[in-house]
Amino acid sequence: MKFRSPLRKFLRCSAALLITAILAASLLSAAASSPKERASAPLTGRRSFDIISGNELFEAEITLSLEEIKARKDDSDEYIPHVWPVRFSDHGYISSEFGPRIDPVTGEGTEFHGGVDLADQPGTKIHASASGTVTEAKDSSGFGLTILIDHGNGYETRYSHCNSLLVSVGDTVSQGQIIATMGATGRVTGVHLDFRVYVDGEAIDPLTVLDAQD
Ligand SMILES: [Zn+2]
Repeated sequence: MKFRSPLRKFLRCSAALLITAILAASLLSAAASSPKERASAPLTGRRSFDIISGNELFEAEITLSLEEIKARKDDSDEYIPHVWPVRFSDHGYISSEFGPRIDPVTGEGTEFHGGVDLADQPGTKIHASASGTVTEAKDSSGFGLTILIDHGNGYETRYSHCNSLLVSVGDTVSQGQIIATMGATGRVTGVHLDFRVYVDGEAIDPLTVLDAQD
């Protein structure tokens, strides 16, 4: 017995180590697969995981944490973007989210999509997500007819691929005001609004600041 005891102890330890390793491996693979599963979930309401995966994958481009964004989000402040720029009709849907994606025009190569694409009927009204001053209202090559609004607090919002622009540079706009109509100008595959939100010049996931949808 004296002779076998250390061997048993060794075997027991080895078994415990093996079980621990298997558990750790299965936990890691579950963690690795979860963003994919979430990414394929139905596109409803506000989702906040994109900025986290963006951070992991594109650290150089996204430096604001979700906590920092949440700390700055204030739905009672009309100068902080939170109103949806499109009130979807029955045909409306989110056609592309913020984050890495395959180039939608060529169908090959990856790009970082710095906004959220909201698709609906041509001519759908586009609303200012927050009050502010129009700093750009022009045809911006690949982005087509584009409006940029400075909200005066580090926040800016950009509205691209419009069909028509209803405000001019220097105009002050109020939250919810109609500023443009939806179109397909610039480099697009279809009618949609490309909506972007910047904090101190950095693009953040617009779905992290927009109100939850019903
Ligand atoms: Zn887009």
